[in-house]
Amino acid sequence: MDQHVLHWADETAAKILSEKGEKDCYVCASGITPSGTVHIGNFREIISVDLVARALADKGKKLRFIYSWDDYDVFRKVPANMPHAAELQKYLRFPITLVPDPWERDSSYARHHEVDVETVLPAVGIHPEYLYQAERYRSAMYGAGVRVALEKRALLKEILNEFRDEDHKMEADYWPITVFCGKCNRDTTEIDDWDGEWGLSYHCNCGQIETVDLRESNGVKLLWRIDWPMRWKQEQVDFEPAGKDHHSPGGSFDTARRVSREVYGYEPPVTFRYDFIGTKGLPGKMSSSSGNVIDLATVLQVYTPEIVRFLFAGTRPNTEFTISFDLDVIKIYEDYDRVERIAWKADPAKDESTYQKARRIYELSQVERVPDHMPYQVPFRHLCNLLQIADGNIEKTIAGLTDLAPEQIPGIRARCVCAVRWIADYAPEEFRFKLRPVGEKCDLGEQETHAIQLLRDTIVVSIDQYPDDKSCAAALYRIAEEAGIEGKELFRVVYQALIGKDQGPRLANFLRSINRDRLLGILERY
Ligand SMILES: [Zn+2]
Repeated sequence: MDQHVLHWADETAAKILSEKGEKDCYVCASGITPSGTVHIGNFREIISVDLVARALADKGKKLRFIYSWDDYDVFRKVPANMPHAAELQKYLRFPITLVPDPWERDSSYARHHEVDVETVLPAVGIHPEYLYQAERYRSAMYGAGVRVALEKRALLKEILNEFRDEDHKMEADYWPITVFCGKCNRDTTEIDDWDGEWGLSYHCNCGQIETVDLRESNGVKLLWRIDWPMRWKQEQVDFEPAGKDHHSPGGSFDTARRVSREVYGYEPPVTFRYDFIGTKGLPGKMSSSSGNVIDLATVLQVYTPEIVRFLFAGTRPNTEFTISFDLDVIKIYEDYDRVERIAWKADPAKDESTYQKARRIYELSQVERVPDHMPYQVPFRHLCNLLQIADGNIEKTIAGLTDLAPEQIPGIRARCVCAVRWIADYAPEEFRFKLRPVGEKCDLGEQETHAIQLLRDTIVVSIDQYPDDKSCAAALYRIAEEAGIEGKELFRVVYQALIGKDQGPRLANFLRSINRDRLLGILERY
């Protein structure tokens, strides 16, 4: 049995090989218009292609993973919450590659969004070959492809009209192109004539009248539904997924498929539909209702790169799922750790196929490749407690971990960085705590003070002697009895003495996680 056949990325790779036949190189494509923040839903397309590309590579195939920046698209409207909105307004109808960067960091509005993505993708092990469509169009690279569309514009009109209702048919003088004016840069132009070869005439609202040569640098661009299949042929694309919006019946993928076959004579790529991604548990100022968009960089604040990959590798693309920023973060880390233990055979799998599947998901979740040794595991919840006990000091926390091999440290450090960020910015308030400094005393009644004294003088002094949390918890209940208070009340008093709150991490485990002398110091004044 092919051990890879179980994963959806491997299924897709097998489909590409069977539909496209033997090739020297397979081309996997993805792309987007950088007209705004590339959000985590858009990232699903990028990582879907990466996973399929890895599956092809694992079958010994050569491939190109191309990512198209559609930065020759028009700037239609100024998005909400933009700096320098009034200035941006002046660039409406320009190609986005010619709109200035309102944050004044990059060479253009489009470039700004491109840089944001290109900077972060290597962190999750994704290294596509970027194709910049403005540059390609403006160098007349697509001159021949544009001419084909002009030659077959009657057929194009027919194809597009099939998917349109009576009220929205293309007009008689349909042109499959748009032209950015050579004088004012806007697409406020109308086509006047095409000479049947390379000459195209247009006029613009600004008064410009011009005839351009399709073989030379010009402002001509194909409309989206034609542009996409033209580029499939140009790049010989074998695989490209698309979102729900493009994959609806009569949507752009359906028309692109027909245009590809009938106009460009190219068999369209293998595809699948990927679903939307939701987010939950974001603090108010970051929620989507505030107009905020969650991108990969934000998700990487909370999840390590392996876990980000795991979220997508472990879910079929046509399944909608939610990325959590609330307490469920703990569960996601636990899920990943469980798959890791099965993949390393540290935990038994239910059966061989469960093992193979876990192993494959685990492999695809790695940023580069599976490490030589099993990574050190410390449950995320416990790690959060350790970090807070250490007042957020990551190196101190790592130093306190036993049996940690040097090669395991970078992985734990990355997990600590996420945990610290999560606690500070996303965790619910009841999850956060800070140990009281030595010498700070809270007001307690006589009976409560007595309970704390008992705790200090019997349990804390010999805290290192308890072999597990259970035996320590039993000792806590004995103390409560001796002090004549309810167990629940004892816990509340101890949390008050240690962290100034009524609740906290599970007490026995919490006490055993804190250094004995530090505990004695905090409790010495009672
Ligand atoms: Zn003009």
